[in-house]
Amino acid sequence: MERTLTILKPDCVKKQLIGAVVNQIERAGFRVVAMKKIRLTKETAGEFYGVHRERPFFGELVDFMSSGPCVPMILEKENAVADFRALIGATDPAEAKEGTVRKLHADSKGENIVHGSDSAENATVEASFFFAAEEVVRNN
Ligand code: UDP
Ligand code: MG
Repeated sequence: MERTLTILKPDCVKKQLIGAVVNQIERAGFRVVAMKKIRLTKETAGEFYGVHRERPFFGELVDFMSSGPCVPMILEKENAVADFRALIGATDPAEAKEGTVRKLHADSKGENIVHGSDSAENATVEASFFFAAEEVVRNN
């Protein structure tokens, strides 16, 4: 079993798509082992996306991620990191495959509905960014 960290981004919450996206995630075989609704500040959003600090889109990304509540989750599945990236599709919805979460719901490369960890190592770091050990509970 592997874990990955996702965030249903503020556009997902604003569009009232939490249920639709969680349903798609569960139907794809992922188990939700941690979940909460929070609002990031510019500071915490910038810390989470610190790897992108020098990129031209960083300011917009921080503004967007702190613009409203979001829903981080830890997901569990065999091959969770790669399978989740496949489920959500390319960063830019225009390039995402049919049926992926971003193709179905995202408006732009910036406002793209969902985050997914890009490696198992980063998933561990990102999971502990949002969740304490006692907030992570397997279904069975
Ligand atoms: N992003 C953006 N413009 C870009 C690239 C990325 O606004 O040209 C945003 C977008 O919200 C993306 C996030 O920054 O999801 C992180 O970028 P990354 O390249 O890590 O994409 P991801 O891993 O989310 O597919
Ligand atoms: Mg990334």
